[in-house]
Amino acid sequence: MVGYATLECEPACCLNPMHSDLSATPVSRPGEPWGVAERRAWRQRQRVQRRYADDVLKPLLALIPRFEAVPYGELAVGIERFELLAMRNGPWCPGRPGVLVTGGVHGYETSGVMGALRFLQTQAEQLSAGVNLLVVPCVSPWSYERVQRWNADAVDPNRSFLPDSPAREVAALQRLVSLWAGQFTLHIDLHETTDTDESEFRPALAARDGKPFEPGLIPDGFYLVDDAENPQPALQAAIIDAVSRVTHIAEPDHKGQIIGCPVVAPGVIRYPVKDWGLCTSVTGARYTSITEVYPDSARTNPEQCIAAQVAAVCAAVAFVSDSARR
Ligand SMILES: [Zn+2]
Repeated sequence: MVGYATLECEPACCLNPMHSDLSATPVSRPGEPWGVAERRAWRQRQRVQRRYADDVLKPLLALIPRFEAVPYGELAVGIERFELLAMRNGPWCPGRPGVLVTGGVHGYETSGVMGALRFLQTQAEQLSAGVNLLVVPCVSPWSYERVQRWNADAVDPNRSFLPDSPAREVAALQRLVSLWAGQFTLHIDLHETTDTDESEFRPALAARDGKPFEPGLIPDGFYLVDDAENPQPALQAAIIDAVSRVTHIAEPDHKGQIIGCPVVAPGVIRYPVKDWGLCTSVTGARYTSITEVYPDSARTNPEQCIAAQVAAVCAAVAFVSDSARR
């Protein structure tokens, strides 16, 4: 039995040498959560460090007509507008397994965004012939540009996959996948666990919520998060096997844990994804997995992190394709 209530599992996903610094976190009074003023102050301190239109939209649009663009709304933040864009491998074919690939739910986790994009560019055509493929490379474009975990309202999108979501990026994705409700077999969601989680984002979370910050350990290596309420160990094992050929898998710590959670198989932990409002609860798919790449390791580099995400997606898609054929 996994005692989630006592675990410090606030994952720490992300990458990046370009992270914002801790001075971007407004000081709140000890024990008091942020109010509107602190959240506004936090937003005003975030700076654009890269462009979603250049890095994501442009390469996605270049994939037409190999893939079909599926615009699913616009995110408005102040005077800024972000076109929300998914790609699919053609009209939905009833009877084929639905496959959802998401990246950039946490905008700072660069290899998730680039991994989804690279999968489309290099492997998706070949692998997706027997499935209905829907890829959303960057769920949170405002956060991508700021290299941030939270959205513009200082809300974590990956705790917001809830009814009446407080995150507009999330609500837009929920509306998109509702078009094919009940028809997804697989959802793989691409993340990172980074040093900035411990140095910046978990301290910011504690400040925002008026709680003390309790230090944790960032694991060195790739790991996966399965659904505690619907574990699918064979899928996770297939992904770990594929990724281990590309990069190293995180080892358990001296307590047999990764990021405060018991390791249930090599490189695999579990969260109750629906209770926590995580993205992999959005489709109700039988098979789900969350990747966690560690980009700050001395044993890896950005290109290898992208390759690890692509390997994970390919293994997951092949797994459900093989299952459908059996
Ligand atoms: Zn993440």
